[in-house]
Amino acid sequence: MSVIARIFTRRIITTTPQHEELITPKVKLGRCRIEDFEMGRVIGTGSFGRVYLAHKKANGQVFATKALSKACIINQRQLDHVKSEKELLQKIEFPFIVNLVGYSQDTTHVYLVMDYVCGGEFFSYLRKMKKFDEETARFYAAQVLLTFEHLHKMDIVYRDLKPENLLLDDKGNIKLADFGFAKKIDKRTYTVCGTPDYLAPEVIIGKGHGKAVDWWAFGVLIYEMISGYAPFYDNDPMGTYQKILAGKLVFPPHFSRSAKDLIRKLLTADLSKRLGCLKGGADDIKNHSWFANVDWDNVLKKRESPPIRPKVAGPDDTSNFEDYSSLEPLKDEELILTKEEQDLFRDI
Ligand code: AMP
Repeated sequence: MSVIARIFTRRIITTTPQHEELITPKVKLGRCRIEDFEMGRVIGTGSFGRVYLAHKKANGQVFATKALSKACIINQRQLDHVKSEKELLQKIEFPFIVNLVGYSQDTTHVYLVMDYVCGGEFFSYLRKMKKFDEETARFYAAQVLLTFEHLHKMDIVYRDLKPENLLLDDKGNIKLADFGFAKKIDKRTYTVCGTPDYLAPEVIIGKGHGKAVDWWAFGVLIYEMISGYAPFYDNDPMGTYQKILAGKLVFPPHFSRSAKDLIRKLLTADLSKRLGCLKGGADDIKNHSWFANVDWDNVLKKRESPPIRPKVAGPDDTSNFEDYSSLEPLKDEELILTKEEQDLFRDI
């Protein structure tokens, strides 16, 4: 199977259960009634359910609603992750993070109602263009860097950075989505989760990990944007783990010297030396020569012109998403829960 095909089937693994947008507060409805929304076409699928375009019946406002199957959540022991996703997204408001508007549940599903990000998946643009020039890669990397800086200040580790979890808004700016593995942490956490290509060595070893895993994944993302494939890619996840632990980096010849230097410093196994994890924190990365011409205030205020402008015909245009019209409808009778199982969702 080709590199591209392999990456398309990239799996998630888990072994245990001040600027325009900051000045204008986002709509936050809190608990809402799912009956108030009209579910439209499927725009995405995740491990526990589907994401639908949804219109608010009262005023036609457009949202994206993630419907998570309660039965799948229980079967895959992901209740804590779902609770954490909802709780963290409720608290987070940041220009480059998807906005959770409200949440709801019925007997079969938990619903997360979000602002609809209509530009589509960043992943599709990267695959279509095969790879980005460094200027383009730097634009997205800068937005992701500020996002991680913000999350880490809130003591939240994201743990699942990859092109598949980035969306583009109508103007072409990043929105980080899928907080299923994000976690508020004091120091270390032990659950092995993430996607093989993006796992930091300390996660594979299983001796506990923290915010540093996000800076490792950030290095993998920059590499993948510039080359078109992940640095430790292998046909077999075990092969990927071996390569990550061996830590040998091979760069295609078109990488600039400063890109190579930054990636090497991020993809450093020794946590006491990894860029982003030192005394200067995220500032050490911002001050690296690869970001030399970046005005961080302009990045935060979205004053830079995005390199890719999604084609969007209107607020509910779904043409930037895959066509899921051939998906089988869900069989609700397979989703019946016992009273004890329903009780597990009481505090969502
Ligand atoms: P997730 O399970 O959160 O990764 O969502 C699965 C897919 O649904 C994503 O890869 C996107 O294609 C789509 N999606 C999720 N959230 C949104 C959103 N707020 N706006 C548009 N599409 C979304």
